[in-house]
Amino acid sequence: MENRRSFIKKSAFVLGAIGSGMACTTEAQSDNNTANLSSTQAIPTTIATWDNQEATATAMQVLQNGGSALDAVEAGAKIPEANAEDTSVGYGGLPDAKGIVTLDACIMDHLGNAGSVTFLQGIKHPISVARKVMEETNHVMLSGQGALEFALRHGFEQENLLVETSKLAWEEWKMEQKSPLIGKDNHDTIGILAMDAQGNISGACTTSGAAYKLHGRVGDSPILGAGMFVDNEVGGACATGLGELVMTTLGSFLIVELMRNGASPQQACEEAIGRIVKRYKNWVTEDKLQVGYLALNKKSEYGYYSIRKGYSVAVSQNGKNKNLDSKFAIR
Ligand code: ASP
Repeated sequence: MENRRSFIKKSAFVLGAIGSGMACTTEAQSDNNTANLSSTQAIPTTIATWDNQEATATAMQVLQNGGSALDAVEAGAKIPEANAEDTSVGYGGLPDAKGIVTLDACIMDHLGNAGSVTFLQGIKHPISVARKVMEETNHVMLSGQGALEFALRHGFEQENLLVETSKLAWEEWKMEQKSPLIGKDNHDTIGILAMDAQGNISGACTTSGAAYKLHGRVGDSPILGAGMFVDNEVGGACATGLGELVMTTLGSFLIVELMRNGASPQQACEEAIGRIVKRYKNWVTEDKLQVGYLALNKKSEYGYYSIRKGYSVAVSQNGKNKNLDSKFAIR
């Protein structure tokens, strides 16, 4: 864990193939994710990483009841946070190398207000603490013990978030000392965006981070511009997967800026994944390494893309709630 590069298998064949463009192809996504552009009205939309259909449906319900995009993303993010079976978010999350569940989250509204918590322990809904940071302080980010004290002062309760199954999985990991890298079985961070009927966009991102990470490690999810970013003039973006690859390319900010310069959400997600694949080609060839993005623009168009197979997004729009498999860069 201390030295990620030490266990990345270097395959001359794969690297050579990537260099020559053989193993890595980026194909344009067919335009099945385009909202009805003939309408100038905002189409209320919620979109989340992974199979988080319950979250997008809940967020859509908030919008339909007249709630704001901000209320919607918070409500949506709280669904996996409270789900003991979701091993990558909140309650039930897999712990760090010391067996402690540590949580990262951030939230951002259409006015550019933002709040974030990192390395928070024992609070089931870090997204709501992040919102409190946004609304009740002059700061954007609180961390660790300070974030916990802030949460307790604001009425959040401290509880044990390490459920028995996650504890057993950690004990097994400790025995085997398996790779803690993010793979297909241990990343389900929820990043969620919502556009309300006024056309305002907000975003939220919450996670227990990489399973068995070093104690103290913070990933991309609470970092504005990395795990999530919103600029209401343009749109928003969210990330999931190996945070180190997202933080070092500032993926969500990049996607929003690409959209500002005319890219569609799909094109922007593909470009952001392409940057990772190009710059970190000897990391991303690691069998399981994954990063997935999603994006939403002001026309209620959305896009999504990942490094490799397996990523999907949940979308609620026009009365439909669906899960869509992502196209990917490395095959
Ligand atoms: N992005 C998260 C992190 O690196 C992990 C995940 O998506 O599950 O902490």
